[in-house]
Amino acid sequence: MKIFDTMQRRKVDFVPIEEGKVRMYVCGPTVYNLIHIGNARPMIVFDTFRRYLEYKGYKVNYVSNFTDVDDKIINAAKEEGVAPEVISERYIRECKRDMEDMNIEPATVHPQATKEIDGMIEMIQKLIDNGHAYVASDGTVYFSVASDPDYGKLSHKNMDEMMSGLRDLKVSGEEQKKDPNDFVLWKPKKEGEPYWDSPWCQGRPGWHIECSEMSRKYLGETIDIHAGGEDLIFPHHENEIAQSEGASGKPFCHYWMHNGFLNINNRKMSKSEGNFFTVRDITSQYDPMVLRLFILSAQYRTPLNFSKELMDQAKAAYERILNCTDKLKELSSKAEEKELSEEEKKGMEAVKGFIRDFEDAMEDDNNTANAESAVYEIIRVANAGTDADSSKEYVDWLLSVIHKLVDGVLGVRTDRKTEMLDEDIEKLIEERQAARKAKNFGRADEIRDQLLSMGIVLEDTREGVKWKKA
Ligand code: AMP
Ligand code: ZN
Repeated sequence: MKIFDTMQRRKVDFVPIEEGKVRMYVCGPTVYNLIHIGNARPMIVFDTFRRYLEYKGYKVNYVSNFTDVDDKIINAAKEEGVAPEVISERYIRECKRDMEDMNIEPATVHPQATKEIDGMIEMIQKLIDNGHAYVASDGTVYFSVASDPDYGKLSHKNMDEMMSGLRDLKVSGEEQKKDPNDFVLWKPKKEGEPYWDSPWCQGRPGWHIECSEMSRKYLGETIDIHAGGEDLIFPHHENEIAQSEGASGKPFCHYWMHNGFLNINNRKMSKSEGNFFTVRDITSQYDPMVLRLFILSAQYRTPLNFSKELMDQAKAAYERILNCTDKLKELSSKAEEKELSEEEKKGMEAVKGFIRDFEDAMEDDNNTANAESAVYEIIRVANAGTDADSSKEYVDWLLSVIHKLVDGVLGVRTDRKTEMLDEDIEKLIEERQAARKAKNFGRADEIRDQLLSMGIVLEDTREGVKWKKA
């Protein structure tokens, strides 16, 4: 399998550290409001990549963090007059709900920065001991870029470019930097901000050290793959390498994968520019699987421009997939057990060719665009070559292929969501009330669970039972 490695700037063969296992870290969102569909791009493309690794039989240890201490969270908390953790906990919950809607497999671990402060302090202390960091008179700890001759090896930037890319150059208290490229590992608290005790001052960690520590703790000092959006190459990932390698003396990561931006009108979708759609905006209009198909319709490193036309194309494609699986399921329930016909044997050979195309595409640096094309070919063959005369073996085999590739790898659910009508819900609730009256609590609980599985929550109130969609 080939991966385009940002550091080597070319496609290289993927060889894991440990046979059959992959240790992968994906930088997650800063949780101060609902995630937008730009944030959804790394989530979806790397979830798909992980699913493909699992399809190939790898055991994947997949870690993705939540950045839950940050100026933006603190500002949002001040605006609402609540504690920062009220904001971060709320948006972690909302983010997990969006992830579930988008069928993103939960990570093996979703660490939160605020729960890993002790480990960060230890790592910073190691960097000071190793001569890679220094403490300024106000207690700020800086990483010394001059102490690291390899600094810049990921982004391949020269010093001028680095200077212009610095996010935190003007943050107050940074006047004491020895070199403008030095970056913060620990900063003193400000009035009204969350803080932790440390050997240097009461304060909080810089952003970059979070990921270095969470990656080390959950995946070890050297990992296989580190991923995120391309805006993270510099300074975030460059700094992670400097910190992790400075602390451990070992290579930090073997492969660096970065997704291109999701744009609107060819400009990056971003919260700070205000030109974004939340995942929630989109999923109120489209099935989340349509968003998934749209995002995977481009190779992950290329820019992808969001448009209604492309979303509608993805919607039509999703409908085609669902119509095909509906038809196959219907045929399967009636099909006869009989020998495969010659036509069916030919169909199988054709589909096997498209399965190879699908795998070749995924082996070629996670090329989901070509993998989707292979799926559409399979759907075409399945539609054209099946009818009431088809053998059960052929129909079931087609269903299992679609299930493996579409549900399994692309993460696009092929079971049609059956929206329950309000009156059907009410009928079930009446039946549950009757069951309770008759002291048939087993049946009553069954109905509650059935409704719950469809996202309908019951509340017993004085005025009777009320229900809402969760
Ligand atoms: P943030 O919350 O801004 O740190 O972003 C979380 C993740 O989303 C990072 O991997 C970013 O690189 C990625 N990201 C943010 N905006 C976009 C965008 N418009 N297109 C693609 N990825 C993005
Ligand atoms: Zn990170």
